[in-house]
Amino acid sequence: MHKERKKFQEQLISFIQQKGFVWGPEPELYGGLAGFYTYAPLGKRLKNNVENKIRTIFQKNDMWEVECPTVMQKEVWQASGHLGNFTDPLIKCSKCKSNFRADKIIEEKHDVVADAFSDKQLIDFIEENKIKCPTCGSEFNKEITEHNLMMKTTIGTDIEAYNRPETATTTYLPFTRYVDYFRKKLPFGVFQIGKAYRNEISPRQHVMRMREFTQAEGQMFVFPEQKDNWKRYENISDCRLPLWPYQMQENDEKPKDMKVKDAIKNRYFKNKAYAWAVNLSYVLFTEIGIPKENIRLRQHTLDERAFYADDAWDLEIKTNSFGWVECCGIHDRADYDLTQHAKASGKKLEAMDENNIKIVPHIIEIAFGTDRPVFALLDINYKKNDERTILTVPKDIAPINVAVFPLVKKEGLAEIAEGLTDDLIENHGLTAIYDAGGSIGRRYARMDEKGTPVCITVDFETKENNTVTIRDRDTQEQKRIKVEDIPKTIDDIIFRGKDITDVKK
Ligand SMILES: [Zn+2]
Repeated sequence: MHKERKKFQEQLISFIQQKGFVWGPEPELYGGLAGFYTYAPLGKRLKNNVENKIRTIFQKNDMWEVECPTVMQKEVWQASGHLGNFTDPLIKCSKCKSNFRADKIIEEKHDVVADAFSDKQLIDFIEENKIKCPTCGSEFNKEITEHNLMMKTTIGTDIEAYNRPETATTTYLPFTRYVDYFRKKLPFGVFQIGKAYRNEISPRQHVMRMREFTQAEGQMFVFPEQKDNWKRYENISDCRLPLWPYQMQENDEKPKDMKVKDAIKNRYFKNKAYAWAVNLSYVLFTEIGIPKENIRLRQHTLDERAFYADDAWDLEIKTNSFGWVECCGIHDRADYDLTQHAKASGKKLEAMDENNIKIVPHIIEIAFGTDRPVFALLDINYKKNDERTILTVPKDIAPINVAVFPLVKKEGLAEIAEGLTDDLIENHGLTAIYDAGGSIGRRYARMDEKGTPVCITVDFETKENNTVTIRDRDTQEQKRIKVEDIPKTIDDIIFRGKDITDVKK
């Protein structure tokens, strides 16, 4: 099982490098540092398309984007609890002295979730299962130490500061500004898409675990009494979610497809606002194109829950390279953050409710990174067989929309194809590329590997009757269409989900 995964993983990562999606660890020129990667031209376009979809969905749900600083002074991280609590369990090899994350060493070899294990459980598990140092094969020391994940820096000459380990805390700090901006009306929602930093011990999971990564985190500020009086809940109460409450995990039951309102009835979710947030996370991931059968929503067990969380569910994605991976956390943080920052700053962080009583609002958070879903999309859609390699990423987020080929370069075909390419770029806002290199078969193959949904070929008939062929990436089917219908046809296939067989001749 793990061997197969490893083999697929290696093949996929080398594909991603060669085709220009992700390079690294960077800086490669200086030998590379684990946990840092460059998004190459195709990968960056893919990531942008994913992030823009996320933006659109948050905005549709009346959440507003902000951009806060990524570096803040010590006091902020003391108050948030990160300087004290944001640690990973470290284990050292007795011989080569390499350090590893104890829970990850276990999870790499065994199908268990070890991040809630106590130090003793970690050591016992490693001993009982004879897990050895991956570097040299020796035994580990029988001791766990705590490693803080914060990346330290200095502002000016002497201000101790840290790169943010999450966008969330920085989003909370302008709280009183939000209250004014939203004209003192709760609930309100804001989100950030931006970089965060974690000093991971020895990340070896490509962009799934980076030291510098991109987060997208949405925060809803609500009064406690609004949680069960949540207007938007009515629109989603009949939606179905693949839920795996912790009781079902303990009984070895599989996740169950359930209506949101039934989950509320069964008390799997404590309140309607939280249920709405869990549903929104599912919408976010299905809309960017993660197949439903690859998603499950897992509730944290009680000892797994973060110190601030009143309730916590993870959205997990099933990948070929790493199995099930946590990709999003939905947390009811209650009044933890605002209370902490009020105490530390000496300022009141409250808002007036309907009865003119000043109270500290609660925060419900949808927290995820954009690197993991991008990797998952590559992982799930990379298909290789004896005949061809194809990247079946959802057509509307593919890095390149369309490629235009002249059948041959002579007799004016190249000029026509170049003209068409320019028209698609300039007048129709598409990402189009022109390619005249090699046989038509080779050019199709190159585009299949890049995930390009459609290719257009200009041939001799184009000169006679102003038609071209359009070819679909997934079915390889071709159709002849009029030149004037090209933009509409591309739009139908890429953005409206039409099949090429339905396209009019
Ligand atoms: Zn070793």
